[in-house]
Amino acid sequence: MKKASLSSLKENNAALIFQSLRINGPMTRAEIARETRLMPSTVSYITNLLIHKKVLKEVGSEDVSRVGKKGILLDINYDDFLFIGYDVGSAYSRVIVSNGKGDILYSKRFSSEKNDKLLKQIYENIKIVKKEFNIIGIGMAFPGYIDPEKGEVIRSHNIDISNFEVKKVMKKEFNLPAYVDHNTIMMARNLISNNSHKEKDFCIINIGPGIGVGIVSNGKILRGYKNAAGELGHVTVNPEGRKCNCGKKGCLETESSSKAIVRNYEEISGKNLECDGSCESKLVYELAKKGDEKAIKAFERAGKYLGIGIATLVNILNPEKVYIAGGVSNGWEFLKGSTEESYNQNIFYANKDVTIEVSSIGEYLTACGAATYAFEKYVREELIP
Ligand SMILES: [Zn+2]
Repeated sequence: MKKASLSSLKENNAALIFQSLRINGPMTRAEIARETRLMPSTVSYITNLLIHKKVLKEVGSEDVSRVGKKGILLDINYDDFLFIGYDVGSAYSRVIVSNGKGDILYSKRFSSEKNDKLLKQIYENIKIVKKEFNIIGIGMAFPGYIDPEKGEVIRSHNIDISNFEVKKVMKKEFNLPAYVDHNTIMMARNLISNNSHKEKDFCIINIGPGIGVGIVSNGKILRGYKNAAGELGHVTVNPEGRKCNCGKKGCLETESSSKAIVRNYEEISGKNLECDGSCESKLVYELAKKGDEKAIKAFERAGKYLGIGIATLVNILNPEKVYIAGGVSNGWEFLKGSTEESYNQNIFYANKDVTIEVSSIGEYLTACGAATYAFEKYVREELIP
């Protein structure tokens, strides 16, 4: 049995109790102690504190008692424990309100602004949601180079933002704690937290206007020395390829992202889709579905380089599975053939049986991951003084 310490372990113990209630539903104090292997006195101390803070509530008594007296069931006060999950994308953003159990109470998707206008858009959306719901904290997912400890977007080429101190700004503007991370890490977190994936070693590749990968190794997210692991979009797959906005040439992002698919189509067909670099591969997907061979070729070209990128990733990490997510995954039927062909040409034989599949969890994945992350961080960092 774990020994209670009222200092350093307190917050971890609260997190343990929360996680157990989230997975198992209402439980008595005795059941919580058994489930978490914490001392009953620790469970009583923490649960009483959390009931006082209206974070936990009593929800009746158990049906049958093992010791004569029926125990009182406790549960998380989900209705008053709401978090914003904000997925800031370069083309589209999504705001959700979730109750930490993963139920979505509000959702809105809209075109993203850029730079200063984007910041204004973020404030406005949070203001609207905050008026309507009793929000406890904010989880925000961004593309680019993020410092999750400081809660700062250091640089994001795709949304043209630098040194955005999200955590500080949200505290000042809304008096709410904010938790920030990379969008693909939020995706991976959602898969881990909700126990929806049994693999302990997997990768989830987010393909939209940018490309990133969330890497999970032995059940834990792999972040690297300075939180910059997972920049699959800037792995060189075509040394003679297009110029990337990172300054290099032929990055995976310039060859296989949604923008790249649009550009492929424009180059192959000689047509201009007239969207000033802001339109999505959805237009090309619609054409491909109608049998437009040039649109199909645009996907096949992207798949050829995507296969090289995935093979590089798999050769280094040897995951059990690679999930494909993000807007471009909708067009997987047109990418699959050429991706698998080039993957098989570039994969080391020991990794031959690694499977690639489209994630079954839809477009809410990142925003839900951000809300779940905020919930978990809040429980660890803010609940117990
Ligand atoms: Zn690049």
